[in-house]
Amino acid sequence: MNLHEYQGKELLSSYGVAVQRGILAHTVEEAVAAYAQLQAETGTKFCVVKAQIHAGGRGKGGGVKLAKNIDELKQHAGNILGMMLKTPQTPGGLNGEGKLVRKVLIAEDSYAPDFDACKEYYVSILMDRGTKRNVIVYSTEGGMNIEEVAEKTPHLVHKEYIDPHVGLRDFQKRNIAFNLGLKGAAYKEFLKFIDKLYKAFLGSDASLFEINPCLKTGDDRIIAVDCKVTLDDNGLFRHPELEAMRDTDEEDPTEVEAKSYGLNYVNLDGNVGCMVNGAGLAMATMDIIKLSGGSPANFLDVGGTADAERVEHAFKLILRDNNVKAILINIFGGIVRCDRVAQGVVDAYKNIGNINVPIIVRLQGTNADIAKELIDKSGLAVHSAIALQEAADLVKKMIA
Ligand code: GDP
Ligand code: MN
Repeated sequence: MNLHEYQGKELLSSYGVAVQRGILAHTVEEAVAAYAQLQAETGTKFCVVKAQIHAGGRGKGGGVKLAKNIDELKQHAGNILGMMLKTPQTPGGLNGEGKLVRKVLIAEDSYAPDFDACKEYYVSILMDRGTKRNVIVYSTEGGMNIEEVAEKTPHLVHKEYIDPHVGLRDFQKRNIAFNLGLKGAAYKEFLKFIDKLYKAFLGSDASLFEINPCLKTGDDRIIAVDCKVTLDDNGLFRHPELEAMRDTDEEDPTEVEAKSYGLNYVNLDGNVGCMVNGAGLAMATMDIIKLSGGSPANFLDVGGTADAERVEHAFKLILRDNNVKAILINIFGGIVRCDRVAQGVVDAYKNIGNINVPIIVRLQGTNADIAKELIDKSGLAVHSAIALQEAADLVKKMIA
């Protein structure tokens, strides 16, 4: 689950990490009030209007603007609120349709009073599956596109791997601060910053923190000016206050709907719809579709209790995608009995009516033979297969 910048900053703040102060606004009026409040609280002269959407690169798309007075604030807030913001990370990129901006963060100008004395760094924490360790990735080249820095000047991107048994060691914090070229008070501030940041990462069961830019101010403070936070969905049950931050407006509507039925669905751009029980089997099914010359239209794990109702919901979600040319149902009957699922498929098929894409059903495991008979006898245009390769070959024939 991703957080908005303002939510990420709330999370960091709760761990004592210094962040750029900001107040959320949904309307121009709220933005004006937020500016006044910020000025009273922080003494900031200018403020930044920042679009809150789940995508980075907002600055490049015109979603981050500095306002030097109340008129500029009204103008920027008015322009950004309600705009379809296009960034390199929104669907379709800079030439895509963009994402609707529903709220803005009105933030203090962290670069004041001495803009030229400020320095932007890149700091992120993520889980590295290769080494099975968390890693802090950092660079002196912050503020801009880190992918480009990594590609053109890889020697400017540094990594510090953290042993899970001993945690982030003091020498590692010093190493990072040193490599960033920090000195004096800023060096000391950074040690505190990275220590708290890492505690926040562990404490929230996050899978990604990306602070870009991490700012050194003219008076040697270290501040998170931007933050991208991704939380591990599997750890969310431990953090109801973070789970409450979910913004379904930012998520794929079909995926949100699927979740409400207890289905694990991810939309993809292929032409073969998949309905599978178990995430591992779903991955293997997608592989075999690919190897047979097709391309999966979705990942869908219907879970352990694939009853008629779930199967029907799953069918409807898959059929909503106009690219789907065939549907492959691949169920392994372990706890769930295949004949139950087969009955579910037949019932759902009849209930929905006029399904005009071929359906290939492969049921294996408990009562698979009874299930095959049920499907074969149902009189529906459903093709049954026992072996997975057989199913994949059928799919290939159907989409040819
Ligand atoms: P992103 O484009 O989505 O990554 O959004 P950021 O929050 O990183 O902001 C983009 C850029 O706006 C930053 O790299 C800064 O250069 C600039 N910016 C952000 N906050 C301030 C601020 O308080 N003052 C000034 N002068 N510039 C800012
Ligand atoms: Mn940024």
